[in-house]
Order: sequence, then structure tokens, then C-alpha cells
Amino acid sequence: MHSTADLVHLINVEYHYCGLGSYMSTSYPIAVSEKWCAEADYTAQHEWGHNLGATHDPAASSNEGYNHGYLMPETKKRTVMA
Ligand SMILES: [Zn+2]
Repeated sequence: MHSTADLVHLINVEYHYCGLGSYMSTSYPIAVSEKWCAEADYTAQHEWGHNLGATHDPAASSNEGYNHGYLMPETKKRTVMA
């Protein structure tokens, strides 16, 4: 048992980016999102994914595992990490 939070997410009214999360950082599982992006574009969920080790779709990252987003160009649909 540890005495720190598993994930911390700060939602700011104004921020330089839509969101920023630390990739697989067990020391600092912290993410930040701008309020508008968190409400309208699943940015908070996306950054939590980074904190838990997920990356973007393979075309945008070098992740060869299965813990990444999926982009389906033929349907223009995507998962929250793509
Ligand atoms: Zn990302």
C-alpha cells in the first residue's frame, strides 16, 4: 500500500496545450488538460491513457505493442488514443 494518488489530473481554464500527460511515469502520474478540451474532446481520458502506458496510433508512434490507439481512415473513426 502506498500513500500517494494513482493518478492526478488537473483541469485548467487556460493552458498552453489541450492536454499533457506523463507516459508511464510511476513517480509522477500527473496530467493536465484545458477545460474546454477536457469537456469537448475526451482530452482528460486521452491523458489518463498516457499515464497508464498507452500511446497514439502506430502511424504517430513507434509502439509495436497493442497498448495504442487505432485510427480507421476508411470510416474516419478513431479511439480516444489515436
Ligand atoms: Zn497524446
